[in-house]
Amino acid sequence: MNIVLLGSPASGKGTQAEILSKKFNLFHLSTGDIARKLAETDPRIKEIINSGKLIPPEEITMHVLDFLENKKPDLRDILFEGFPRFISQYEALDNFLKSKGDDIDVVISLEVPMDVAIKRISARWMCSGCGEIFNTESKPPKSFGVCDKCSGTLVQRDDDKPEAIKTRFEYYLQNTKELIDYADVKGNLTKVNGDRPIEEIAKDLEEIVRKAKEDDQN
Ligand code: AMP
Repeated sequence: MNIVLLGSPASGKGTQAEILSKKFNLFHLSTGDIARKLAETDPRIKEIINSGKLIPPEEITMHVLDFLENKKPDLRDILFEGFPRFISQYEALDNFLKSKGDDIDVVISLEVPMDVAIKRISARWMCSGCGEIFNTESKPPKSFGVCDKCSGTLVQRDDDKPEAIKTRFEYYLQNTKELIDYADVKGNLTKVNGDRPIEEIAKDLEEIVRKAKEDDQN
């Protein structure tokens, strides 16, 4: 069973993807993580990410398919976070999975109003040492500006800075909304209100995945 988790920047999709993948033993594929890894050695990608833009759709698709062939060749029980973001990426993934006898079973869109997401982003801090994410409102560090895990310094991600956030939202509104409508027409989309406590959202997502798993087994 394969799941796609969509959502705007700061919709909470990373947090929920982590909870869901642990709960159902899913392979968590985050294209944000793949992109950040590529950025370590590719200044062009680093500049794209830091400015809040998207990597050309076919380029990241190629990296995702390569990644799958290497790390998850059975193509089963994968939770895709941040991919696909374009209809063309959805079709490429769908065709790839189908060619290997598998499918995209569920698409979940985690929805939050833009003002809520922007407020969340401004409260988000990342450890410059280990990458752990904190939020001064929902997950504050024990000591201001210091990582609980490794004592590293907490910084704001470049793509969480105001100019980049604006660009990220523009891309989301242009491309991902189009994809959400497309998945809706296909009939495998569930929209979930992401403007609630983490545990409440996690419970709803768990239910959706549990049901999809049952359908998949029947
Ligand atoms: P995220 O952590 O999901 O917000 O992703 C961080 C950055 O990685 C994005 O702003 C893009 O530059 C890049 N990225 C992630 N997923 C995709 C995708 N599906 N298509 C194009 N670029 C992507």
